[in-house]
Amino acid sequence: MAKLTLEDLDLKGKKVLMRVDFNVPLKEENGEVEVANDNRIVAALPSIKYVLNHGGRAIIFSHLGRVKSEDDKKKLSMKPVAQRLADLIQQPVTFVPAIEGKELEEAVDNLGDGQVLVFENTRFADVQNGEEVKRESKNDPALGKYWASLGDVFINDAFGTAHRSHASNAGIAANIAQTAAGYLMEKEIKFLGGAVENPKRPFVAIIGGAKVSDKIEIIQNLLKKADKVIVGGGMAYTFDAAMGKPIGDSLYEADKVDLAKQLIDEAGDKLVLPVDAVAADKFSNDADTYIAEDGIKDGYMGLDIGPKSIELFKSVLNDAKTVVWNGPMGVFEMPKFAKGTLAIGEELAKVTKENDATTIVGGGDSTAAVQQLGIADQLSHISTGGGASLEYLEGKELPGISAISDK
Ligand code: AMP
Repeated sequence: MAKLTLEDLDLKGKKVLMRVDFNVPLKEENGEVEVANDNRIVAALPSIKYVLNHGGRAIIFSHLGRVKSEDDKKKLSMKPVAQRLADLIQQPVTFVPAIEGKELEEAVDNLGDGQVLVFENTRFADVQNGEEVKRESKNDPALGKYWASLGDVFINDAFGTAHRSHASNAGIAANIAQTAAGYLMEKEIKFLGGAVENPKRPFVAIIGGAKVSDKIEIIQNLLKKADKVIVGGGMAYTFDAAMGKPIGDSLYEADKVDLAKQLIDEAGDKLVLPVDAVAADKFSNDADTYIAEDGIKDGYMGLDIGPKSIELFKSVLNDAKTVVWNGPMGVFEMPKFAKGTLAIGEELAKVTKENDATTIVGGGDSTAAVQQLGIADQLSHISTGGGASLEYLEGKELPGISAISDK
C-alpha cells in the first residue's frame, strides 16, 4: 500500500511536527560546541523547505547521541544543531531548550506561517532525575500523545530510527490524524521497499561483511525474493568450511556451519559463493599474500575475494535489473584487500548506466565503502539507515514506516 507523503498534506497555517534525523557528530572549539558534520541537516532541507514554502509552521525535533545520564544531557543539546539549521535555511530558528512544558507550548503558539522551531533532544526524555526511564525509547504512550498534541499533522523523515518503536515516531503517529513520509523516508521506501516487494528482474543480492550471524536473516529473506544471492566477505569462509574446504585462519563461526550447509543445499545455484580468495599471513596491509583457489593453507586467512570470484560475480551481475548490496567483499579499509569491493562497486555503476538497473546500497559499511571508492553518485540509491535498512532487507515490519498513514 502506498504511503502518504508530505506533498499529499495541506500545510498552510498548520502546525507541522517534523521528526528528522539530526543525529550529527559534534565538536568542541574554544569552549563552544559545534556541529562537526552537517550532512544529515543538509539532507533534511528539501522536506523542511517544502513545509515552509507551503505556509506550514515547522516544529522540528530529533534524537542526538545516546542519553543515559544527566551528564549526557549537558553534552547533547540540540542548540548548536538549531543554529546550523538557521545558517543553512538563512532564516531565524527558535530553539526551545525543553522537550515539554509551558515554554515549548507558548513557542509553538507563537509560531507564524513559514516559521521554524526546534526543540530539545527527544532522548532527554529517557533520563529523569538521573534515572533511566526511557520514555522516548520505550514509547511511553503519554509522551507520544503529548508531542502529538503540539501539532496538526506529522511528517516523519527519520529513516534511521524507523526500525524502532519510539515516542517520537510511532507514539506521535498513533495520536494524530495524519502522518506522512518526508522526502528522505519516501526515497528509502521507494528503493528498499520496491526492491524487496516488486523488483525488476533479474534481481541480484550481494551480501558481504564480517559475520554470518549478523546477516543470516537477510540471506534467508533474499533467497526467497532474489534470482541470485552472492555471498562474499568474511562470512563466505563459514560457507566454505561447510563444504569441507580448508579455510586456514579465516573468519569462521562454528555454530553457523550447519545452517550454512542447509542454505547451500536448499538454495542450489541461486546461491553464488566465491571460488578464490586473497589469502594473507596476517591482518595487515603489508601481509604476505597469495591467491588461494582450493582452500586456504594453514597460517593464512582470506581477506578479499580473488580475481576469479570477481569475474564470476560480474557475470552474475551483468544482466541484472535490480541489485541490492549490503556488506563489503573484503577488508576494504586496507588498500591491499579492497579490490573485490571496488570491482563490485564499479560493476554496479556500470549496470546502473548500461542496463538502466536499479542499484541500491543497503546501509552500514557498504555505504562507507562506496563513498570511499567515490562511486556513490553513480548508483541509484545509498540507504542512510544502518539498522533500519538491515531490518527492511530482512523482510521485517518497521514500526516507523507502518505508522505512516496509507494514501
Ligand atoms: P559488516 O558490518 O558486517 O558489513 O562488516 C564489515 C566489516 O567486515 C568491514 O570492516 C570489513 O573489513 C570486514 N570484513 C570483510 N571481509 C572480511 C574478511 N574476509 N575477513 C575479515 N573481515 C572482513
